[in-house]
Amino acid sequence: KGTLMAGKRGVVMGVANKNSIAWAIAKSCADQGAEIAFTYQGEALGKRVRPLAESVGSDMVLPCDVSDDAAINATFDEIEKKWGKIDFVVHAIGWADKQYLRGRYVDTPREAFLQALDISCFSFTAVARRAAAMMNEGGSLLTLTYLGAERVMPHYNVMGVAKAALEASVRYMAVDLGRDNIRVNGISAGPIMTLAANGIGDFRYILRWNQINAPLERNVSLKDVGGSGLYFLSDLSAGVTGEIHHVDCGYNIIGMKNPEAPDM
Ligand code: NAD
Repeated sequence: KGTLMAGKRGVVMGVANKNSIAWAIAKSCADQGAEIAFTYQGEALGKRVRPLAESVGSDMVLPCDVSDDAAINATFDEIEKKWGKIDFVVHAIGWADKQYLRGRYVDTPREAFLQALDISCFSFTAVARRAAAMMNEGGSLLTLTYLGAERVMPHYNVMGVAKAALEASVRYMAVDLGRDNIRVNGISAGPIMTLAANGIGDFRYILRWNQINAPLERNVSLKDVGGSGLYFLSDLSAGVTGEIHHVDCGYNIIGMKNPEAPDM
């Protein structure tokens, strides 16, 4: 236990269960003294999130479907009533119709494209705008992205396009909100077996490929991402904004398959 986050309050959006990246970041911040409000999508997940929240001393657990502006407003209104201001937000939310996370990107229909971009990209902008209004002493906004935004990954398809837009939105919002001392950053995490990842075709193959080809010769852990999240949400990163930071055991620097790697 430490005090890096003592006196800070924040909202963590996107916990589905104990394997969620959002939960890993929440835990590392709570261990450093942060007070956290959790938001979830749908009552089925609410049941899972409540005990997790309790375990870090939080009873602020609120529903929020980020595809709905009224829901975002209602959730942040509620938090504003209780806390007045907040210091950080974690947006660990992504979604695309599973049916299009395989096969060819070029076959994505309009409706599936718009839904993926709405939930996986625009929701961070909508949340940032509402949250920034509660950050009168500055703050830190953090989202989660993936290398599929920069390069073609098998099956990532429309999510890759959504993540590219999300990463661009990090940079635009870093400028928009910088004068209010609100920082906006993204963590580009290596593959981790979560509920969302389960929807991506051949995900186990992707995990194995990363493990044998990453410089650290392993896959990133939830704890690794939690630690990097803590850095972005605490004052340790006070001089950092507009950044997309890879937490992937170095995989993104690799230009070619490791010739010494075992066969897959
Ligand atoms: P997860 O399934 O635990 O979390 C995804 C969350 O998004 C869930 O809690 C789900 O309820 C929420 N969500 C989806 N649609 C929503 C909506 N309309 N309103 C509110 N919430 C909604 O999986 P995760 O892997 O922890 O995903 C968190 C973030 O990390 C996502 O943005 C994902 O793209 C990103 N990411 C994941 C990996 C990985 O390999 N797991 C790698 C890089 C980036």
